[in-house]
Amino acid sequence: MKIIGRGTIIVLSVLVLGTAGVCFAIKKEPVKVPPAPTLSTPPPGCDKPATEFPDEFLANVNHANALPEGYVPPDLRPLYKLGFTPEMCLRTVAVPDLSFMIKAAKVDGLTLKVVSGFRSMARQTQILNQVKKIKGDKAYESVAIPGHSEHQLGLAVDISGASLKYSLPTKTFELSPEGKWLEANSYKYGFIESYPKGKESITGYIYEPWHYRYVGIEMAQKIRDSGLTIQEFLSLPSDKESK
Ligand SMILES: [Zn+2]
Repeated sequence: MKIIGRGTIIVLSVLVLGTAGVCFAIKKEPVKVPPAPTLSTPPPGCDKPATEFPDEFLANVNHANALPEGYVPPDLRPLYKLGFTPEMCLRTVAVPDLSFMIKAAKVDGLTLKVVSGFRSMARQTQILNQVKKIKGDKAYESVAIPGHSEHQLGLAVDISGASLKYSLPTKTFELSPEGKWLEANSYKYGFIESYPKGKESITGYIYEPWHYRYVGIEMAQKIRDSGLTIQEFLSLPSDKESK
């Protein structure tokens, strides 16, 4: 597995030339460039917060701990440059390493796709209500209460892959090549599985092999070495955390 460095830049340049008629004039065919997304109005999911909130980068968000009321991350950014819809947003701080991770997986022959990024409280409420209609109170084992979701932090991603035809993943994602790759490699890019197998009684959530949270590369290494969940690690007294 190759890690793609931050300095890797791929430049593709295409120049199509042709000749026209007997006068030997060189005709330059127009280069086909995909239209840039129009972002004159902010994408719906990436609106700037009306209020200033604390950074909350390492907030311990879980069933018990909520984000500040109405929290919106300060630096949401659309992911269209990674090939996703403009409505898909994440905090700017997480985007470069997400991009490196996607490229590294590609080098290993795998195509990852983020199927859920930042979610507003309103979107989280919609999702919870939909799942409650099907699962009743069991919904709380897989969907966070609005205000308690890592997705609202703008640092969590749900990932699918080509082998699943990019559908919403289920527990079997752990058996897919993309799921196995993420399990083995995501921490190198600062992403940690938030709700691991066998830790359901600690996290309060079902095993979610598709849900990863960005904590930065250094912190991801520490959490992985500790063998603890993100929630447990962030609950440690600061003298034991060695953050
Ligand atoms: Zn998720």
